Amino acid sequence: MALTGLKIQKLLPKTNCKECGCSTCLAFAMKLAAKKAELAECPYASDEAKAVLGAAAEPPIRTVTIGEGEHAFKAGGETVVFRHEKTFVNQTGVGLAVDDSLDDDELHRRVGALLDYELERVGELLRPDAVSIAFESGSLDRYLSAVKSVVSIWPRAVVIRSDDASALRAAAEMLRGRRPLLASAVPATVADMIAVAKNTESALVLAADNFDDLVAMADQCRDSDLRDVFLELRADSLCEHYQNNTIIRRGALKSGLKNLGYPILKYIDTGNPIDDAIEAGIEIAKYGSLAILPTFDPADFTPLLALRQNVFTDPQKPIQVEPQVYPVGEPDENSAVFVTTNFSLTYFIVSGEIENSGISAWLVVPECEGLSVLTAWAAGKFGGDKVGAFVKECGLGDRIACRKIVIPGYVAQISGELEEALPDWEVIVGPQEAGDIESFVKNVLT
Ligand code: SF4
Repeated sequence: MALTGLKIQKLLPKTNCKECGCSTCLAFAMKLAAKKAELAECPYASDEAKAVLGAAAEPPIRTVTIGEGEHAFKAGGETVVFRHEKTFVNQTGVGLAVDDSLDDDELHRRVGALLDYELERVGELLRPDAVSIAFESGSLDRYLSAVKSVVSIWPRAVVIRSDDASALRAAAEMLRGRRPLLASAVPATVADMIAVAKNTESALVLAADNFDDLVAMADQCRDSDLRDVFLELRADSLCEHYQNNTIIRRGALKSGLKNLGYPILKYIDTGNPIDDAIEAGIEIAKYGSLAILPTFDPADFTPLLALRQNVFTDPQKPIQVEPQVYPVGEPDENSAVFVTTNFSLTYFIVSGEIENSGISAWLVVPECEGLSVLTAWAAGKFGGDKVGAFVKECGLGDRIACRKIVIPGYVAQISGELEEALPDWEVIVGPQEAGDIESFVKNVLT
């Protein structure tokens, strides 16, 4: 939990020597509380002050990385309970569970399908994050061979899963350098697993059936200086799990409980793919950090990844496209001009609908700070004068002969202003909904 200036002042020498650049220790403490100064600026800070302030400066939920380099997956790091308070930071990972009872061909088929799957949405490429490989065969040789086979084609995050500490140790040693996630340590194996995780630089899942065991294991990890930890609190029902996730998030953020300040892992397997997808959706919405599903079906993963993108988009920074004139199809000097805002979702929907209509056109996208059409207009960022000025600035009028410009139907009121700004253009009020562009093109434009 954040310390107040007065609490910090009690930890300082209180000599007011001014060497930190502040006139008093209290003034320096206030700057520290506001995160506008570093404790290192006071040469006389005690070890106790360094320890207390260092711990207070740690993020309330640790960011844990699985995997290496460009394929690394980051989890945790959250600072708010609700998205609208600021933003969520690291997207909930979505992964697939396989096990070593499958032969290598089947493992490659399943993992290969996951690897090939990607979804492009509003200009972002969305992909699954992790594969979990469970030890089911009973043969350690087979398990290690299956893990090797999967990682030979899967470059992203890997979770190795077993209740058998010796199997996890052997697989973790084989994957040294890949930073796998070891799932899971339980109270009986946690001491061994902490040693394995530290020795192989892996992250460790702590699995428990109740908060007492979970917290005791998390304390053991802190005492052993193992910080890269996930929590897996097993529950009997979806309701209980949802409640547990909420308690963990609030405990870490609101009560400053360090032993709950870790990302959350959930293995999902309800026996029904639709229920699996619903549970994964709840993980995304409510504090899950990594949700592993038993099967991969694009029909389930597509809505999950789209939901994740929506939940984890910074509400204060809408996804935007660059303000400019975009060609849709292969427009020429006789092609019509459409106008919309630079909110990504709006841009991609409008450009897609123009494309679907079968014509080529120019799409003018002025700077609107990523707002949608009506919001941008209400905020004074999408008026006829602004659109007109942008069209002139782009020199579009010099490049095309067909001077027809189509504005969104929701802002028909800017047509007069735009006609004044662009006197030699014909301003046409288009449909309100992008879905009506095709019929508009057919019935009005052509
Ligand atoms: S340098 Fe340290 S002791 Fe001196 S005024 Fe600043 S905070 Fe106080």
